[in-house]
Amino acid sequence: MFRYIKILNKSLSGSTSVRYLSSFEKFQRWYRDLWDPKVPGPPFKHVCQVGDPTLRLKSSEVALEELNSERIKNILLVLRGVMKHYKSIGISAPQIGIPLRIIMIEIPDYMVKQFGPEACKTREIVEIPFKVGRLEKLNFTNNLAKICLQVFINPEMQVKDFKKTLFPEGCESLKGISALVPRYKAVHVKGYDYDGSPTEWAATGWAARIVQHEMDHLDGQMYTDIMESKSLQVDLWKTINAHKGNILVKYNK
Ligand SMILES: [Zn+2]
Repeated sequence: MFRYIKILNKSLSGSTSVRYLSSFEKFQRWYRDLWDPKVPGPPFKHVCQVGDPTLRLKSSEVALEELNSERIKNILLVLRGVMKHYKSIGISAPQIGIPLRIIMIEIPDYMVKQFGPEACKTREIVEIPFKVGRLEKLNFTNNLAKICLQVFINPEMQVKDFKKTLFPEGCESLKGISALVPRYKAVHVKGYDYDGSPTEWAATGWAARIVQHEMDHLDGQMYTDIMESKSLQVDLWKTINAHKGNILVKYNK
């Protein structure tokens, strides 16, 4: 395509040709953008999908002098916003296109209720403890639920219980599918909080599962790398049959 255009430029001259070339170039740009649309850079306000190279990178640590900086604060705000928008219980910075070691986890009370008592019992799903007034400084104004957020910058994880549980797991970066994934029962994680202060957390049950899932993202791993492969399913498979395949999947929530 590029060679063809150069030849065309050489063979044309005069004002008529200049106008022609100008409209041709516009057409060329329009055509190119169809296949390679210009998008605003990260942090994205949507979740990147598998295939995005950022999801397979080993993310870098946040430099200590950058803790509590405006840039990191902005990344945390976008992460929090995306997590709320997608009604997700865990997210990592690579999922919004930022290859930095930052994870965020939240299980608010209303989501615990959505899981239902049976799932909560077998999967050990409990509300993440409320930390009083810790996020107002970051202007997190969404008060739909109590703030139960756990933020870890440069997290380090230690397994505390090597017994594994096998439960269905999904990921916003693998939209619409889920699979059974084995995870350790208990972990301890430590790192830096949203304001750069040291923080740590002993997570068990479902919370431990989320920590392991998000930690994997920081090393470019997806749950599909360790899943029970035959359990992989499209979550809406029954609905797809019922609607004769006429289902649209949106990637912005
Ligand atoms: Zn994920």
